[in-house]
Amino acid sequence: MIIPPELLSFLKEEGKFFIATHVNPEGDAIGSSLALSMALESLGKVTVLYDKDSIPEFYYFLPGHEKFTHSIPSVVNHTWPLILLDCNTLERAGIEGLSFKYSAIIDHHEPAPRFAERGRGARPGTEKDFGNIRWIIPEAAATGMMVFYLIKELGINITREMAINLYSAIAIDTGTFRYGNTTAEAFRIAAELIDAGASPAYISNSLYETWSEERFSLLIMALNTLEIRDAVAITVVTREMYKETGAAPEDTESFPNFPGIMKDIKVSALFRELDDNYWKISLRSKGDINVARIATLFEGGGHKNAAGYKIKASLESAKEALLRAYYGHSHKPQQT
Ligand code: 5GP
Ligand code: MN
Repeated sequence: MIIPPELLSFLKEEGKFFIATHVNPEGDAIGSSLALSMALESLGKVTVLYDKDSIPEFYYFLPGHEKFTHSIPSVVNHTWPLILLDCNTLERAGIEGLSFKYSAIIDHHEPAPRFAERGRGARPGTEKDFGNIRWIIPEAAATGMMVFYLIKELGINITREMAINLYSAIAIDTGTFRYGNTTAEAFRIAAELIDAGASPAYISNSLYETWSEERFSLLIMALNTLEIRDAVAITVVTREMYKETGAAPEDTESFPNFPGIMKDIKVSALFRELDDNYWKISLRSKGDINVARIATLFEGGGHKNAAGYKIKASLESAKEALLRAYYGHSHKPQQT
């Protein structure tokens, strides 16, 4: 992986960094940001770590998670440079009305405009080519892999804390080394991170076997809404369900993976109610079905097998819109 030389000199020359990642943060966003912040601080730099949304409790095992702030400190102004991780627009990070001295993007998401140009009826993103340095490698399984190379290239020793964060980042984005993006390289990096002190058993246990009972109750409720339309599985989480179970919206992470356990399901879509007639859709697919293309039609984004978008519509019309997108514009949605 070739790191842009201007990124290396930017990181070496600046003394302070505002590090931000995307809303609804998950393991790769959190882990890669924490590891980079620790690495830069080991060089004597100052970092402010920002995520608009709170860190889900089940990620509290990640060392340093408490360093994230969820409101932008007043000290951060236009004299600060920005590093944007695991996303490539300010909009995805929920940052508005701020300008930065300089900005570097480190991401593995396909930039939205390129997708939009290919998708029928989609408009190009409004922040095309945001960032002075855009290091975007869609082939990288996780932003954590890119940060791993960056830290090594800067000559920084990977501590146990950095290793836990980076291993978790890669584990989350590869489905713990099961998805199509799992390469020999991912395993090689993971092996180095284990040597540096990351324990696969501890991390897998922390990621997958520490659910609260509330979260599990919410999963049961969500699975009870299952509707199968052809090869598309649809599940729904309403705001009422949070009240009934005591679970939180971030507890739905990984819910869309469950229906895919069924062999005939090609796409799984979780509809999460954000507000009246306002839904967040999380898509997962198997094999060659590119759900990022579907998400882009609704101005969302993501990866080939995991993507998402938001839509203002009733639940029924939102489902129909998804099915239309799945079947392609020229075909009527099939009825089951
Ligand atoms: P999830 O559905 O779990 O929130 O996200 C799956 C993948 O799609 C992640 O890579 C995430 O960054 C991306 N994604 C989810 N929702 C959106 C969205 O509204 N816009 C964009 N650009 N990407 C999204
Ligand atoms: Mn990622």
